[in-house]
Amino acid sequence: MTFKEMGLNPQILKAIKELGFENPTQIQKETIPFVLKNDRDLKALAQTGTGKTAAFGLPILEKLNMKEKNPQVIILCPTRELCVQITSDLTKYAKYLSHIQIASIYGGANIETQIRKLKQGVHIITATPGRMLDIIKRKKVDLSKIKTLVLDEADEMLNMGFKDELDAILEKIPETKNTHLFSATMPKEIDAIAKKYMHEPYEVTIGKKNIGAENVSHEYYMVHSKDRYLALKRIVDVNTQIYGIIFCRTRKETKDIADYLITDGYRADALHGDLSQAQREIVTDKFRNKHIQLLVATDVAARGLDIKDLTHIINYNLPDEIELYTHRSGRTGRAGKQGSSIAIINIKEKNLLKKIERIIDKKFIYKPVPTGKEICEKQLFYLIDKMQNVKIDEEKISSFLESIYQKLENLSKEEVIKRFVSVEFNRFLEYYKDAKDINIPETNNEKSYSKNGRDTRGPKANLSFSKNLTRFFISVGRKDKIKNTDLINFIYKTTKVKNIKITGIDLMGTYSFFNVDKSFSNTILNSFNNAEYKGRKIIIEPAEELETSQNRKRKRRRK
Ligand code: AMP
Repeated sequence: MTFKEMGLNPQILKAIKELGFENPTQIQKETIPFVLKNDRDLKALAQTGTGKTAAFGLPILEKLNMKEKNPQVIILCPTRELCVQITSDLTKYAKYLSHIQIASIYGGANIETQIRKLKQGVHIITATPGRMLDIIKRKKVDLSKIKTLVLDEADEMLNMGFKDELDAILEKIPETKNTHLFSATMPKEIDAIAKKYMHEPYEVTIGKKNIGAENVSHEYYMVHSKDRYLALKRIVDVNTQIYGIIFCRTRKETKDIADYLITDGYRADALHGDLSQAQREIVTDKFRNKHIQLLVATDVAARGLDIKDLTHIINYNLPDEIELYTHRSGRTGRAGKQGSSIAIINIKEKNLLKKIERIIDKKFIYKPVPTGKEICEKQLFYLIDKMQNVKIDEEKISSFLESIYQKLENLSKEEVIKRFVSVEFNRFLEYYKDAKDINIPETNNEKSYSKNGRDTRGPKANLSFSKNLTRFFISVGRKDKIKNTDLINFIYKTTKVKNIKITGIDLMGTYSFFNVDKSFSNTILNSFNNAEYKGRKIIIEPAEELETSQNRKRKRRRK
């Protein structure tokens, strides 16, 4: 089915043709004709980069009553960047529709200006939930004419803690509206929202067939954590024309990595929540215009960024919520272009990849971190290719040539080539001359996983299976914002024993491991019997028994 056959009006067809939309994407085929013909709720499972914005945006524009000055549509999305992006996309689709008014309502900007815009009359509001609710509570918006409520990236709105705001907004908008919910994942909480506020929604699932996932290859490199930055540099250096986003877990890590890259001579910058809106726009513009080639970003800051032609997404660290991986990788491979999503992992994170593989329904390909020699070769031939293909502007250089020839007349052709290569290339040769192999070989690390998938190798893990030590699993982890010292203090406080030697601490997302001398095992187990951490009951078990006890729990649940 073509856009024309869907029944979109000629002005919209003209605008999207100019944007290069030749054929509808899968989600557009599934939703546009349906929404045009039906006034019903819609629940769509679709990832970023699938053409979602046009999927909900085009029928909204088609169905608008241009004479009605009170808002008819509210589009809620998780971040101000996405809000601005959706408004900009809708404005482009509506280029040949006259007088369409869209208000972008988001936090961090002047609320009075936004209220003034609403007063002037708007057809559509794009908003973040917090600011929208604020304006509703101040009674500055008339909701009586709302026909459609779009929840875009609903899972992300919940991840960002907007559950209460969404509930409050959904309660306040008249029941006669249609709700169109779009989400990359469907956790229980989304189903709960759908059940509570939607009436027999028409369900659409865009599986593998989306422009994002289809063109993205997923690759991983495995190194020790201390070598992560080195691996990043090598990946960047071997991909001579990389234009990509490097995702980090925290603002601090984002700033640090960007700083290191800049110091090391890369065209990079950081995008994170500590920047003001104006600063963020400057960074985003620099990236969009390709003045920088590497954007180091947190998940939140990069939401809604629609940058064309990204070649790579690099997961410097995998996200805490593995579902976020889909959002990250969906930033590349857009609109039919090829892209790579790369994960730099340490040996313990291999089982996370397996979980992600289940979500994306694709396999990660193992890639060895390139050696210094491979990188130098790649860079050198890139340089040679560039030289071969460079356009020569005879007119501009002719006046200099004579004196250049004179200066170089004593050098042979071979000498000139050698010197020219060295000028451009010494940085790489020097840097990589003693570069070590930083790979953890794939064959070894397959063997290193015990049956239950946990790492049993490496210096720390080895300790856990030594005769005199017991390795414990404990259900507090990085998500509780604890550090090694906090964990040790927690153990001291709970056991009331201060001379326990605690070693081999591995802080994971929601759990951790540590080793203690076997003689303390019972003390630990007994004192943690009813222990709580910040009001939450703690589970603690010897690590090897965890699998069986979890299985027991699972089996019990199944019964
Ligand atoms: P979205 O999922 O809405 O963020 O869209 C991802 C990218 O695909 C954006 O750059 C859109 O402009 C582009 N796009 C959306 N629909 C189409 C289409 N039918 N043909 C080509 N590109 C599209």
